[in-house]
Amino acid sequence: MATKRANSIEVKKINRNAIYKFLYKHDPISIQEIAYTLNMSLPTVTQNIKELQERDLVIETGLFESTGGRKAKAIAYNSAAKFAVGLDITRNHIGIVLIDLSGKVIKNERKQYPFVNSKEYFEGVGNLVKHFIDDCKIESSKILGVGIALPAILSDDKQTVSYATVIDFKGGSVKSFSEFIPYPCILSNDANAAGLAELWVEGNIQNVVYLSLNNSVGGAIIIGKNIYTGENQRSGEFGHMTIVPDGRTCYCGQKGCVDAYCSAKVLSDSTNGSIAEFFRLLRLNSEPQKALWEEYLKHLVVTINNLRMLYDCNVILGGYVGAYLDEYIEHIRELVSKRNTFEVDGTYLHVCKYKLEATAVGAALQHVENFINNV
Ligand SMILES: [Zn+2]
Repeated sequence: MATKRANSIEVKKINRNAIYKFLYKHDPISIQEIAYTLNMSLPTVTQNIKELQERDLVIETGLFESTGGRKAKAIAYNSAAKFAVGLDITRNHIGIVLIDLSGKVIKNERKQYPFVNSKEYFEGVGNLVKHFIDDCKIESSKILGVGIALPAILSDDKQTVSYATVIDFKGGSVKSFSEFIPYPCILSNDANAAGLAELWVEGNIQNVVYLSLNNSVGGAIIIGKNIYTGENQRSGEFGHMTIVPDGRTCYCGQKGCVDAYCSAKVLSDSTNGSIAEFFRLLRLNSEPQKALWEEYLKHLVVTINNLRMLYDCNVILGGYVGAYLDEYIEHIRELVSKRNTFEVDGTYLHVCKYKLEATAVGAALQHVENFINNV
């Protein structure tokens, strides 16, 4: 709670924010219970709820059963008060989502739209965003902003791109996008965005390592619910850990990187780029899919075990490959536990919950997070 020295406007803001965040994390609840749990007076909570209701941020969802006396109103945050848009920019495609305040995907689209570092491209992205929002039929005042995830390493202030090889955008800036998008824009690293989306749905988890198995391999390290970015914004670049000395050549130019063994392309190159088709054929025990999968797992298991040894926390498998792993996770858990020095099971290993567009969702969640912190 605030000290007496904080002025009354600050105290009011702190209280209002604490109440809103509390509602965000809980099922519908009564004013009495909010006051009791947050150790605030009933008039303080009542006044703040009234203000939040006037802003349409909080709603009444019904009445609780009473044990005598008046029934208490059930109060909840309004997940449809605001929305955010997320873009997942890849080498050949754009994924676009609209999420509500809870992180639920309301609408999504994926389009073939190869990245080109040109004005025409960014103008095209701007038009895509405008049409998408028009189709959603949501007032523009309800859109918090557009989050843009890139397969790139960003500068400290996240305004520019300091390293990019998957797309030709080194030295690029958020301004290239925001010039054509009439909403606040925030850039994110793609794997960090996806990791954030997974953490969002997990609720109570504090620490997690997210391994993104897309056409390039990346990841995110989340400690105490915050992304550990590293000193050069290059943390979690698991794709470039060496797992085979002098092994296969990676797109980065080095040899033996995880990416050369565990990217989704290693599998989908056998099925014309379709990961869905790869897993369909694998289920039918087709070759060469079966052999490719066994070879893939060998390296994946080494990578996962290394992550567990390094971070001693849950590991989530995501990306194009992660989305198909529900039916294989028990087998992978067995394999990782056999490699583990300390543990006899692999229960620390999980499959991503967002099967679709985790990256775009995570990019959009940056706006939701800022909003929640500033209510
Ligand atoms: Zn590499």
